Amino acid sequence: MTKYDYIILGAGASGLMLAYRMAKDAFFDDTSILIIDQVKEKGNDRTWCYWEKGQGEWDDILTKTWPKIFFGSQKYSETIKISPYNYKMIKSDDFYKSLWKVISKKSNITFVKASVKDFSEYDNRVEVITENESYSCSKLFNSIHRPHVYDGQDQYPVLKQHFLGWFIKTEYDVFDDTVATFMDFTVPQNGNTRFMYVLPIDKKTALFEYTLFSEDLLKQSEYEDAIKVYLKAKGIQDYKIIEKEKGAIPMTSFKFSELDSKHILNIGTAGGWTKASTGYTFRNTTKRTQQLISFLKQQQDLSRFSKISKFWYYDLLFLDVLGKHNGEGANLFASMFRKGNTSTIFKFLDEESSWFEDLRIIFSVPSKRFIQSLLKRLV
Ligand SMILES: Cc1cc2nc3c(=O)[nH]c(=O)nc-3n(C[C@H](O)[C@H](O)[C@H](O)COP(=O)(O)OP(=O)(O)OC[C@H]3O[C@@H](n4cnc5c(N)ncnc54)[C@H](O)[C@@H]3O)c2cc1C
Repeated sequence: MTKYDYIILGAGASGLMLAYRMAKDAFFDDTSILIIDQVKEKGNDRTWCYWEKGQGEWDDILTKTWPKIFFGSQKYSETIKISPYNYKMIKSDDFYKSLWKVISKKSNITFVKASVKDFSEYDNRVEVITENESYSCSKLFNSIHRPHVYDGQDQYPVLKQHFLGWFIKTEYDVFDDTVATFMDFTVPQNGNTRFMYVLPIDKKTALFEYTLFSEDLLKQSEYEDAIKVYLKAKGIQDYKIIEKEKGAIPMTSFKFSELDSKHILNIGTAGGWTKASTGYTFRNTTKRTQQLISFLKQQQDLSRFSKISKFWYYDLLFLDVLGKHNGEGANLFASMFRKGNTSTIFKFLDEESSWFEDLRIIFSVPSKRFIQSLLKRLV
């Protein structure tokens, strides 16, 4: 069995970002690193968006940047300048290609295309079993999302951010491509939290994504019908669908870090790096992989990497409320955006806000449900 210092399971956003940082840091030059994924050429399988202050690490490969966002709901709608933030979009294909270019040059990093069946920890090593072979390592980073780890429990609600999107092209100039529609809750809520997310790439091209924060997925036709109705309501009739994307991202405060151990660290969505209250993962992955590189230079015990913070509790209460009263999301977000300052909201969602800023956000949303959930969690 071939033995490596590090094995990374999954070469998606988190696995590849970690491998890229290891490739760029001379500290890891004398170590052997294996990346295993069932697919290497994944093409443009997703589009990542995130907000960021000023310039950022991935700016060279961005598809688009927006200085303004639109928030829409029955009670409050506004186009908001988000300076000093920008809303940024990366196509995954550009991201994968750019990172692989750096990783492929390193002789100490090997890639194996295989489907991982299982992995187990022994005293001083971890063994990974794929369909054809087994590998062993000192430290394992797992980004393969395994829903069964939280499916059986009822301590933490599990919602999903699920969506289907159409990239459409119109014949004439239709879109204001300086504004990204962050959340438009004016669509019928039908007892859930439902919104349209619109990303205009230029005046003729935009992604329309019908999105829910709820427990159960819809039939494909329901997402598509909602997009058709929305386009019609906006007066957009002559268009071609040029690409589609769909996804379901887990939203849960399940303690993924309890699955970590001395030699195994779960990363990416599998490691709880997805923000439970929003589904955003990409920017957190950028930050966490940076922190992980520093951590690996100083410490051996991977179970010490992840820490529970005050934001974990906020998300827990938010998901308790949304899980129980799924139709109230539009109202909660509308209150937050109406009363709060968008920069502070972004800072809060990035888990970078101070206690004082947290309080301003907390007092901007109707408190009754949160108090009920807090009391329930306390007893
Ligand atoms: C369509 C879509 C759009 C998204 N948009 C955004 C966004 O705009 N902003 C944001 O912040 N987040 C977004 N997310 C959420 C999150 O950023 C992504 O899911 C992100 O890719 C998560 O990174 P990851 O490394 O955890 O998982 P992934 O990127 O999914 O990587 C996991 C890897 O594991 C491999 N794998 C899985 N099973 C096996 C197996 N058995 N054996 C071997 N390999 C395996 C897969 O092939 C994959 O390459 C989006 C998610 C989706 C699905």
